Amino acid sequence: MSSVLIVYTGGTIGMVKSPSTNTLVPMDFSNIRKKVPELNMFDFVVDTITFDPPLDSSEMCPEVWVRLCNIIKDNYDNYDGFVILHGTDTMAYTASALSFMLQNLTKAVVLTGSQLPMGTIRTDGKENLIAALEIAAAQENGMSIVPEVSVFFQSKLYRGNRCTKINADNFKAFTSQSYPHLAEVGIDIKYSYPHIRYSPVEGPLAVSTEMEQNVALLKIFPGMTRAYVHHVLNIPGVRGIVMETFGSGNAPTTRWFLDELHQALLRGVVILNVTQCLAGSVEMWRYDTGRHLMEMGVVSGRDITTEAALTKLMYILGNYTNPAEIRIMLNKSLRGEISLR
Ligand code: ASP
Repeated sequence: MSSVLIVYTGGTIGMVKSPSTNTLVPMDFSNIRKKVPELNMFDFVVDTITFDPPLDSSEMCPEVWVRLCNIIKDNYDNYDGFVILHGTDTMAYTASALSFMLQNLTKAVVLTGSQLPMGTIRTDGKENLIAALEIAAAQENGMSIVPEVSVFFQSKLYRGNRCTKINADNFKAFTSQSYPHLAEVGIDIKYSYPHIRYSPVEGPLAVSTEMEQNVALLKIFPGMTRAYVHHVLNIPGVRGIVMETFGSGNAPTTRWFLDELHQALLRGVVILNVTQCLAGSVEMWRYDTGRHLMEMGVVSGRDITTEAALTKLMYILGNYTNPAEIRIMLNKSLRGEISLR
């Protein structure tokens, strides 16, 4: 009989409305079987671990990611798959981070949550949880069908490092514009086999716990001042910057802007160029406004999401110091987070 471990970290899915304050407060997750009696109907074992106290996903940070990785590692041999219940706000960051931190993954790690708490009648949490469990338990020839870190939300399973939260109200809270979904849940669960990633490296699960937090996000916008750009690029100790640019990786060619970037690059700061658009790829050779960046040594993030770019940078800078090696790693698709042509 297969088995799945649910790790409840916090978030709306595990909340109820407090009658006294009318705000959402965490429910006692040990009562989950009362709220979702369907959990007793699966033909596989479901166990749960609960964070105490549960965390709103705004509190997520590398320390918590390490804790999650260690829970998966410690329980890896006892379960066939894992479901992580997580607030939706930063779910795409956690999914991206775990995808890099968990090496040689051969079992499903499915993150899910909900827009309405489990304790409300119209909750989307029940459906999300049940489908996530089925996917985490799904096996073929003794192997997990989706052996990667994924996010399940409102009928679709996405690669974790390819999705983004796009809606704070709607049940369809996530999208993955640059990569097809891995499965769709309707009457049946239809797996999109050609798009599922299988770890190319054989070996035991390894957890990389070094995540460099000296990274920053520089979102450019028309009218930004030199002081703004200068301050972000000169944060004491900063080693990597994700720069969110326009369209296919374009930025102003104003002298002061290029000078600031150039100085940062000379100091050894890695700058990764990602687009502010929801879909499409950075192609710095396309316009003159991108070419300047490329010639200077800014690295193309291609079609990576900002969430995956930040966590990939944390992971690479946490594990490598040689600048040439860092560039090579950034240009590689480590866990299917970028499309290489
Ligand atoms: N604030 C909540 C969180 O991300 C929202 C949610 O769960 O959807 O933890």
